[in-house]
Amino acid sequence: MAVLEIVQIGHPVLREVARNVSVEDIQSEAVQNFIDELVETMRAANGAGLAATQVARPLRICAVEVKAGNPRYPYKPAIPLRVMINPEIEPMGPATFLNYEGCLSVPNLRGVVPRYEAIRLRYLDRNGVPHEEEVKGVSAGTYQHEMDHLDGKVFVDRVVDSTTLCTWDNFETHHKAAFVEAITAMEKRLGNS
Ligand code: ZN
Repeated sequence: MAVLEIVQIGHPVLREVARNVSVEDIQSEAVQNFIDELVETMRAANGAGLAATQVARPLRICAVEVKAGNPRYPYKPAIPLRVMINPEIEPMGPATFLNYEGCLSVPNLRGVVPRYEAIRLRYLDRNGVPHEEEVKGVSAGTYQHEMDHLDGKVFVDRVVDSTTLCTWDNFETHHKAAFVEAITAMEKRLGNS
C-alpha cells in the first residue's frame, strides 16, 4: 500500500465529474487496492474525508472518517470509517447551517459554506452492498463536501461571503470559538449530543 499524492486546487482533475464504478469493478483487485490507498492517504493527512478525484482518479469513490480528537477538526463529532461508492445525497429539508470548511486540496484556507442540516445518503460499500442512512448536523456537512468533489466542485465555489476566507491560524485565533459555539448548539438541537 502506498500513500498517494493529494492534488491541489488548480489541478484540472479536481474539476472533473467522476464516473460511476460498476459493481463488477468494485470487486476488482485494482479498485480494492485503490480503496485501501485512499483510506491510508486520508489517515496520513489527518483528513476527515478524501475523494478519489483528490488523488487524481476521477471515480465516484470517497472515504469519510473522523476519530475523536482529529488534529485538523478537534470539534467534529466522530464518524466511523465509511467507504462510499457511487454515493447520492438528498436533502431532508430546506434547513441549512453555516459550516467553516477546509480541504486537503486547498492549502491553508478555510471559509464559511452553507450546507444542508439533514441529508439522506445512499451508497455502495466496498463489497458492493447498498446502504441508506440519515445524517444530521456537522457530519452531514462532511458528506456534502466529499460529494461535491465527485462532481468537480471545491468548497471555495460555495463560499457566499468571501470575507469569511481565512488561514488556519486566523481561524484558530479569530473564528473558531464562535463557530464551535454555533455548531455545539445545533448538535444539541438536532439531538446529536
Ligand atoms: Zn475537500
